[in-house]
Amino acid sequence: MLTSPQFKDPIEYLRQGCERPWEVAIDPFKVAPRTYYVGNAWVGAYLLESSEGLILFDSTMQPQVYLVFEAIRKLGFDPADVKLLMLTHMHYDHVGGARVIAEHTGARIMMSREDVAFLAERPDQLFESGYAYGDFEVHEHYNDNEPVVFGDRRIDTVLSPGHTPGTTSFFFDATDESGVTKRCGLHGGIGLNTLGDDFLTEYGMPVTARTDYLDSMRRLRGLHVDITLGSHPAQVDMLSKVPLIAPDFNPFDDPSVWQWLIDQRTRQVQELIASSKLDPAC
Ligand SMILES: [Zn+2]
Repeated sequence: MLTSPQFKDPIEYLRQGCERPWEVAIDPFKVAPRTYYVGNAWVGAYLLESSEGLILFDSTMQPQVYLVFEAIRKLGFDPADVKLLMLTHMHYDHVGGARVIAEHTGARIMMSREDVAFLAERPDQLFESGYAYGDFEVHEHYNDNEPVVFGDRRIDTVLSPGHTPGTTSFFFDATDESGVTKRCGLHGGIGLNTLGDDFLTEYGMPVTARTDYLDSMRRLRGLHVDITLGSHPAQVDMLSKVPLIAPDFNPFDDPSVWQWLIDQRTRQVQELIASSKLDPAC
């Protein structure tokens, strides 16, 4: 049985997820038309059907890739049809499986130029904690003024620095057979674990990451999102909503969630800044 991710130390989740990945295995589920959750109980991954093949958002960790493939198979697709892998940010739980997926599928990999540079400069910030990791090639970067168009799917990207310098959020439409369209949004990396005094001091990271984060949030707050996808499902309590999925009801379709998430994290960073002992200009 899985305990709620909120009550577990992230390092414990990394250990469990990499050494006993079967304990975090969950069945895939539909989040929007032609859009599916294929991640595990700890970290998210999303599959988009397109007219040119499958698009995958994030890879999970290398020891967990078989779970992603199994989830894709359970949905009736072939993992070998993944043609494009879009990465949200350079932390191990999101990119750790990229090499294995690219080797198996030949998928092209996209990641922001900022996080490609950050990974090259600060490989310690990958946080793979000694677990298996294969270097991967990034074929393309995001350009926010140019959507990623793949077959009949279009993904708008928004650079959202703070959690990492190159964290990128994805926004896209999902249209059902009757022509109803829902706007989906995935914040690429919303964790505050990289913004605390202790973290910034220990790793020698700039305190201005916090103001970058707040600026990102201001840009993202005005966007309309019907269906909010968590880069970790716990961020928006996705897994507790899975039992509510019905043919005529999508429990993820709730436009208030996006604003709630952005406001909650904005408040938390403001509190962090207010109680900080570090010089905000450093
Ligand atoms: Zn992260």
